Amino acid sequence: MSSRIYDCIVKINETIQTNKDFLTDLDREIGDADHGVNMARGFNAVIEKLNADDADIGGALKKTGMTLLSTVGGASGPLYGTAYMEAGKVVQGKTEITKEDFGEMLRVAIEGIQKRGKAEKGEKTMLDSLLPAYDVYMEKINGGEDLLGALEAACEEAEKGIEYTKTIRATKGRASYLGDRSIGHQDPGATSATLTLETIRDFLKG
Ligand code: ADP
Ligand code: MG
Repeated sequence: MSSRIYDCIVKINETIQTNKDFLTDLDREIGDADHGVNMARGFNAVIEKLNADDADIGGALKKTGMTLLSTVGGASGPLYGTAYMEAGKVVQGKTEITKEDFGEMLRVAIEGIQKRGKAEKGEKTMLDSLLPAYDVYMEKINGGEDLLGALEAACEEAEKGIEYTKTIRATKGRASYLGDRSIGHQDPGATSATLTLETIRDFLKG
């Protein structure tokens, strides 16, 4: 039998593969048309590296991050790689997680992305979905909401974050070369980050 964390990462991979062309097309508008290709290559390698019976959530996430780091070129590889590795570190050895754990995983993942990429909110990156998603997640669990309920609210904020990226100019990453011409387009990384959160939500629902 396969482990829950393995099954969840398999679902994330399926989402990435299904949205490979969509993410690449978004990146064609404001980047170099490789975001979907990058993510799809990375997650194919992740699935090859993982064992179906890997039950340690931290271990599986660290393996995921290290594989993304070593197989995905571009900005998103190191950023997502760091995010998964950092999230894995805080649940090392655990086969189940609490809503507080998940909040901490999100927090350190975002912190890792910011340490590496030096971006803040409002620069038209994945952080424009992740930061508001994290904020509402914490607000919800502190108010007594359970993991799934809080994650549902987080996904709604992440979607709003995608919409927000359409209204702003990119000041980090390749899209920043376009200046004002980046306005009007949604950010590919904010889109893949939102799709990832939504896949985890759907996995927990199922
Ligand atoms: P590249 O831009 O090197 O071709 P990808 O196309 O795979 O890499 O990824 C582009 C995405 O990476 C962007 O849409 C953006 O969300 C994200 N990104 C780029 N630079 C940063 C950064 N400094 N911080 C956070 N996210 C970033
Ligand atoms: Mg690109």
